[in-house]
Amino acid sequence: MTKDITKLLKGKPTISKAKTSKVTKPSTKKKLTATIKETPITQNTSTKKKVTINDKTFEYEEKMHSSTCRILGTHGVRFQSKLYSELMKTHKENFLNNNNNGHDTKKLRFQIASFDLDDTLIQTKSGFKFGKSADDWKFKYPEIQEKGKLTEWIMKANEDCKDDETTTIPIMVIFTNQGGVTNNHDSNEPKSKSLLKLLTKLQLILDSSPLAEVPTLIYASTKKSKKDLQNGVGSDDQLHSSFRKPGIGMFEQLKMDLGDGVGVGVGIDGVLIDMEKSFYVGDAAGRKSDFSDSDKKFAENVGLKFYTPEEFFV
Ligand SMILES: [Mg+2]
Repeated sequence: MTKDITKLLKGKPTISKAKTSKVTKPSTKKKLTATIKETPITQNTSTKKKVTINDKTFEYEEKMHSSTCRILGTHGVRFQSKLYSELMKTHKENFLNNNNNGHDTKKLRFQIASFDLDDTLIQTKSGFKFGKSADDWKFKYPEIQEKGKLTEWIMKANEDCKDDETTTIPIMVIFTNQGGVTNNHDSNEPKSKSLLKLLTKLQLILDSSPLAEVPTLIYASTKKSKKDLQNGVGSDDQLHSSFRKPGIGMFEQLKMDLGDGVGVGVGIDGVLIDMEKSFYVGDAAGRKSDFSDSDKKFAENVGLKFYTPEEFFV
């Protein structure tokens, strides 16, 4: 299935299954070859970053946890799949070439299939409300795995976007509130048990089929420790609250990261999301049996079409 999808993606990269993958772009006269290597886990590697949410700019420290995971201040974490990284690399090279030829970089469009995580994509195996361990989860609907609903969407999105005037990149994004997970400010301090469990779990999810077969990003909002709250360190409290759904922080972070990914600079200029063809699926829809309406409100706040999991998967 991976090969089928990547064949359909513009730029037609060839993804090998080995840890070191070659990405070849046959559309240009001179073939470009990029090599993606496993980045070793590095501690205490941090970069100062900025994100703008509702016209307010926040600074935070981005720390590398692994080649696929970054810790965003104390307010969140981001994962990106290897397939996503490889695609961004190919498109970045395409854009640099187009820019040199005087083409407009704004012809780039992303299509976003986005999902809540708990009780939307996954549920616990144990039957408990919260997972007992990093592997206490399974996909909630057979449609996700067996019927290939997600891979189907990516392939259809690619089929539908054969307009040469626009380069469309369909990707999958997970936005999840993890308010029970403590994210310590001081990277010399050991990571909390809850954070380590979440990081292991999200990596397992990212590596599982069908997610490993689609370009995927995961954003999770986390909480500040009591000690960091008392000491007034870590991410701004307002950034913490806007990063939690129904706040729009994770979506603004996504736009910034997409801009970075294709090399049009930090910020949202030049990156367009095709909102008409993008959507968000979540179980907190404000129905009688729902614990909240935070997913429905989140979709409204960012301007995405909303579906409940039952509407989308069943
Ligand atoms: Mg949920």
